[in-house]
Amino acid sequence: MKHLTHPQLWFVCGSQHLYGEGPLAQVADHAAQIAAALDASDAVPLTIVAKGVLTTPEEIRALCRQADAEPSCAGLILWMHTFSPAKMWIGGLSTLHKPFVHLHTQFGRDLPWDSIDMDYMNLNQSAHGDREAGFLHTRLRLNRKVVVGHWADPDVHARLGAWARAAWAWADWQGARFVRFGDNMRNVAVTDGDKVSAEMKFGFSVNTHGIGDLAERIDAATDADVQALIDTYLREYDVAEALRPGGERHGSLIDGARIEVGLRAFLQEGGYRGFTDTFEDLRGLTQLPGLATQRLMADGYGFGGEGDWKTAALVRAMKVMAHGLPGGTSFMEDYTYHLEPGKHQVLGSHMLEVCPTIADGRPRLEVHPLGIGGKDDPVRLVFDAQTGPAINVSLIDLGSRFRLVLNEVDSVEHPPLPQLPVARAVWECRPDFKTACAAWIHAGGAHHTGYSTAVTTEMIEDFAAMAGVELAVIDADTRLREFRQTLQLSDLYHLLAQGLRA
Ligand code: MN
Repeated sequence: MKHLTHPQLWFVCGSQHLYGEGPLAQVADHAAQIAAALDASDAVPLTIVAKGVLTTPEEIRALCRQADAEPSCAGLILWMHTFSPAKMWIGGLSTLHKPFVHLHTQFGRDLPWDSIDMDYMNLNQSAHGDREAGFLHTRLRLNRKVVVGHWADPDVHARLGAWARAAWAWADWQGARFVRFGDNMRNVAVTDGDKVSAEMKFGFSVNTHGIGDLAERIDAATDADVQALIDTYLREYDVAEALRPGGERHGSLIDGARIEVGLRAFLQEGGYRGFTDTFEDLRGLTQLPGLATQRLMADGYGFGGEGDWKTAALVRAMKVMAHGLPGGTSFMEDYTYHLEPGKHQVLGSHMLEVCPTIADGRPRLEVHPLGIGGKDDPVRLVFDAQTGPAINVSLIDLGSRFRLVLNEVDSVEHPPLPQLPVARAVWECRPDFKTACAAWIHAGGAHHTGYSTAVTTEMIEDFAAMAGVELAVIDADTRLREFRQTLQLSDLYHLLAQGLRA
């Protein structure tokens, strides 16, 4: 995956000096054991580093400052083994910018019923030590995740793993650069937005380059690089006869490969983690980038069509969250419906740009007319998507703030689509089509989404909490009346939230 770093999570244990050196040494040993177990867990994708036991306000403050200053630290796991009076944490946590998760666990799993005495009780007292910590986190209005259970419990690892993936994506966004080739598709509202607000809120920047800058880089592609890429295409895909060497459309494949060489070089050299383009602004390009965009997404770049920079950034974040997991993640658009009574379905696709990580089987490489944009027929990968549970996520700009909208869906088998020249997924919405679509539309969710069979609702939930952004979830439990009321209350909450923290 391109431009991906592997940050660490810091495991931080809180205690105090009330208990003497003996118990504190035990606390330190237990904390190190837990950190090592989490580090060894396959469910947690990042390295966990034990940062010892903090027992004074000065130590806590110093560690929080260190965490903020250390680029390789993506977040903190906090646990109070004993009792760490929480006023000691005010100074440190008040200015901490890195996300943290509160792990509410206990070192000893089972009560030693026959031998338990007050020493055991005083050592294993996170039951109330973590409540003291939780009060302060709530008092400070800190948005965090609370994970509860024994530290060896696979469910605890899974909850921490989801949070770690969100923290990874959040770290990836900080300082990330996204490039837009040209502006927004003319007159489209939802793909537009405030890039200054986004950079303040999310930490990534979005800047433009004229399509001519990209065209120059494409023109500079060497024949050797183009040929090497064509060899790759022939190896990895079922390439249509006409596109193969000697075929009557082979020139289209050469043009497509040239676009990929140039676009890839542009992104690599600029350190970009994603991009947008638009079919309305292609001067100097022979085709709308289709195949190139699909393959770049597969390598981890974010993408949004028609200048949709919010979705480009979101797709990148989701790809980071999904890194190493089975399944795939793609830019997606709700395209067309199947409205058979009792079996309402959505056909999701785009003009070209669907990521082959969601493909079921080997994609076909084909060329077809686009119908808009007035350019040559673009080459593209065509495939059906894997079936199974998936999510669609949209990031919108409401003017005064951002909102994430998520719908849990089930990608399903469907009849063959022999005349459809684009990659596609067919899904059914939870709780049902009518409720989900009405809720999505009430929430202002876009037609563009990040679609994933790897990222979970929990990861997006954790991510939204880190970003301090609203998340409206549409799932099996959604009821429209309550959903609409929640949106209204949420408007009020977000209007007041800054004040509540004072
Ligand atoms: Mn679109």
